[in-house]
Amino acid sequence: MQAIRVREFGEPDVMKVEEAPDLQAGDNQIVVQIQANGVNPVDTYIRSGTYAVKPDLPYTPGSDAAGTVSSIGSGIHHVQVGDRVYIAGSLTGSYASQALCTATQVHPLPDNISFAQGAGVYVPFATAYRGLFQRAKGVAGETVLVHGASGGVGTAAVQLARAAGLTVIGTAGSERGKTLVAEQGAHHVVSHHDADSAQQIMDITNGKGVNVILEMLADVNLDKDLRMLAHGGRVVVIGNRGTIEINPRDAMARDAAILGMVLLLAPPEDIAGIHAGLRAGLENGSLNPVVGQELPLADAPRAHVAVMEPGAYGKIVLIP
Ligand code: NAP
Repeated sequence: MQAIRVREFGEPDVMKVEEAPDLQAGDNQIVVQIQANGVNPVDTYIRSGTYAVKPDLPYTPGSDAAGTVSSIGSGIHHVQVGDRVYIAGSLTGSYASQALCTATQVHPLPDNISFAQGAGVYVPFATAYRGLFQRAKGVAGETVLVHGASGGVGTAAVQLARAAGLTVIGTAGSERGKTLVAEQGAHHVVSHHDADSAQQIMDITNGKGVNVILEMLADVNLDKDLRMLAHGGRVVVIGNRGTIEINPRDAMARDAAILGMVLLLAPPEDIAGIHAGLRAGLENGSLNPVVGQELPLADAPRAHVAVMEPGAYGKIVLIP
C-alpha cells in the first residue's frame, strides 16, 4: 500500500508518499481499500505541530476517506468484504491507499454517492449536523446564517438546513463561491467581505435577526454575530483561528447563547445519531457532498496549501 508519512511537524512538504506493508484486520477491525481521501483544515493544523492534538511521529494524516471493504476480522457484522463505505477516522490515518478501522469508524456509502463525495462526508457533514441540530437545536421555520458557506462544512450546513425546513442565509468570499452556495439551496447569499454584510443580513430578516449562526471564523465575526441574532438566538463557534473582543451585553440583550463545539468531543451516542441522520439524507438525495478539486495523493502538500487559501469551493480530495 501507499501512505503519506509525516516524520517531522512543519510545512506541507513534510508529507511524503511511502510504500508500506498491506494492512491486516484483527478482531473487530476492518481494512478499507481507499479510493478517495478528504482534506480538512484540521489536517494542516496537526501537520504544522501547532494543534492541541499531536500524534506520535511518524504518522499518516487524515480522518476522512471512502472506498471498499477489503477484509474484516471476527466480530464484524454490519459490513461485508466488497461493500462501499465511508470512514469516520481510522487507526492508521486516511491519506493512504488502505486504512485500518474499528467497527464504529466504518459506514455504508449509498450507491448514489461517489467515492470522492464519500471522502467529504464525515468531518464536514457531521460537524454541520452537530452544530445545527445537536448544539444549536435548529428547527424548521427558523432562520440560520451559515457564516462561511462555500467550504466543506458550509456547503454541508446549507444542504442540511435547507432539507430540514430552515430559511438559509449563506456567505462566501468569491463570486464563484456565492454561486455555489446558492446552488446548495441557500435562500439568500451575501459576501462576507462586504462592509455592510451585517446590515444586508438584518435587512433579509426584516430587522429581526437570525435564530442560529454557524460560524466558520469566529475570531473575525463573533462580535458582529451577536448583534445579528434574534431574541433567543444561538451562535455555534465551529471555526476559530485567533482571539476577538466581544461585548457580552450584546448576548445578554437577546437572551442569546454562544456555543462552542469540537466534533471529536461529541459522545458516541450523538455520533451514532449523526451517522443515521446523514445516511438518510445521502440516500434520499438531499445531501450531496460538493467536490471542488481532485488531486493525486502525492500532491497532499499542494492540497494543504489550497485548503487554507481564500475562495473555498466545497471539498478538496486526494486520489491514491
Ligand atoms: P474550508 O472548506 O476551508 O472553508 C472555509 C470557509 O470559511 C469558506 O466558506 C470561507 O469562505 C469561509 N471564510 C473565509 N473568510 C471568512 C470570513 N471573514 N467570514 C466568514 N467565513 C469566512 O473549511 P471547512 O472544512 O469548511 O471548515 C471551516 C472551519 O471550521 C475551519 O476553521 C475548520 O478548522 C473548522 N472546523 C471545525 C470543526 C469542529 O469540530 N469545531 C470541524 C470541522 C471544521 P471563502 O473562501 O469563500 O471566503
